[in-house]
Amino acid sequence: MKIVLTGSEALYTVEQLCQTLLPTGEGICNCQVTRRDSMIFANCHMRLDSRETHATARHALSGDAHRDVNLERRTLARAVFRAALPYLPQPPEWGMLSGVRPAKLVRAHLERGGTLRGAKSFLQREYFVSEKKAALCTEAGKIAAEVHKTFSERDFSLYAHVPFCPTRCTYCSFISAAGDAFARWGEPYLDCLCRELAMLGRLRAEHSLRARSIYVGGGTPAVYAPEQLRRLCQALRDTCGGVPEEFTVEAGRPDAITEEKLIALYEEGVTRICVNPQTIHDATLKRIGRAHTAADFFRAYALARKTGFQEVNCDLIAGLPGETAGDFQDTLVKILSLAPENITVHTLARKRGSAFHELHTEATSPEVITHMLAEAESQLTEAGYRPYYLYRQKYTGGSFENIGWTKPDHLCLYNVSMMEEIGNIFSAGAGAVTKLTSRGLTRFTNPKYPAEYLAAGSDFSARYEALVKYDS
Ligand code: SF4
Repeated sequence: MKIVLTGSEALYTVEQLCQTLLPTGEGICNCQVTRRDSMIFANCHMRLDSRETHATARHALSGDAHRDVNLERRTLARAVFRAALPYLPQPPEWGMLSGVRPAKLVRAHLERGGTLRGAKSFLQREYFVSEKKAALCTEAGKIAAEVHKTFSERDFSLYAHVPFCPTRCTYCSFISAAGDAFARWGEPYLDCLCRELAMLGRLRAEHSLRARSIYVGGGTPAVYAPEQLRRLCQALRDTCGGVPEEFTVEAGRPDAITEEKLIALYEEGVTRICVNPQTIHDATLKRIGRAHTAADFFRAYALARKTGFQEVNCDLIAGLPGETAGDFQDTLVKILSLAPENITVHTLARKRGSAFHELHTEATSPEVITHMLAEAESQLTEAGYRPYYLYRQKYTGGSFENIGWTKPDHLCLYNVSMMEEIGNIFSAGAGAVTKLTSRGLTRFTNPKYPAEYLAAGSDFSARYEALVKYDS
């Protein structure tokens, strides 16, 4: 979609919205914004598929410059949304929201003194969000506001990234090296990661910071051998000055998980572990390039429990190639019978340009995915789970969301703080993003690829200086 915008700097708002609502649209979206008599006026003309639509929106200015920038964006978005509606088969469930973190709006509303009911109707009225999605979002936003209250300016969460996997899943959109990359880079990468963690540990000690949680993600962190995992856990504990209240390792793929590794993680202080089946259908697992079976998952899950883990998360994906609503339902029922503390339901992201499109030409229809997600919501709710964090996917048809579900009192603190950008997030490893929130949001991003990270990572003093400068 070609976008022409005059009278406003909010081009990104229009781009995001067009990309979300009309991802394959080839046309023109022409918008103008004007301010007069204490009002903002937005106009949108859209031409697409030999049709033309026109819509307007307006809003009173508040007189507060910062607030008025947001009001201008929202007014412009309303005009674009209204102009796009006639091209859509039905009104989108997320309305005109295009951001990936919708629960942030609820938290902001609550923290300004608003009520839950007010937050929900704000989403419905101002952003045209459906009743169901507004309810989900309100629950997640409420939890985020509660978590936020427990954070001080000096609190941080720690993330370490392991960008290696046993094989590459066909739908993977992460930077993760498979095959012999691990044999080549695994050990030097761990050395580098430990050096970066030592730098962060120095920062923590010198500035009296408090660690709230650790999360080791990937990739598949369980590709490392037990002794390497012990070394990584030790480095993480040293960074934090001990074991914080939550220590997660996304062990990940069952084909990388062994009893010895689980024992190493447990003995080194890990409190929460992710064992991810995605589906319990072997034919699908084979189709998507995961070198494990459903039986491998059940074995790894049972081992995690036997080792003593009290907090286990299982990731599932709705919309895997070749799966019907019934297949997804089977997976859900089997996973619920295990009663893990957390279940994360992802929707398959079909990123344009990925190998996935060539390998799997048959996409699950948005209607089937909608049905799968509705089933998941109703069964998880009935089984006593609550949505505790959610994020929406960018650049995917249907504009679906991923939701973390939790049994009462078992939410993953790291997931909430990372998703809602609560407290400082120190991140180590390739592509890791450190976010400092105490004075606005400042990001420091590491080199993306393992080889680049290794090349740049012999000396972390420049990063240390940058972080200290931020704090002073
Ligand atoms: S396990 Fe995750 S990170 Fe690894 S290849 Fe599969 S999707 Fe990518």
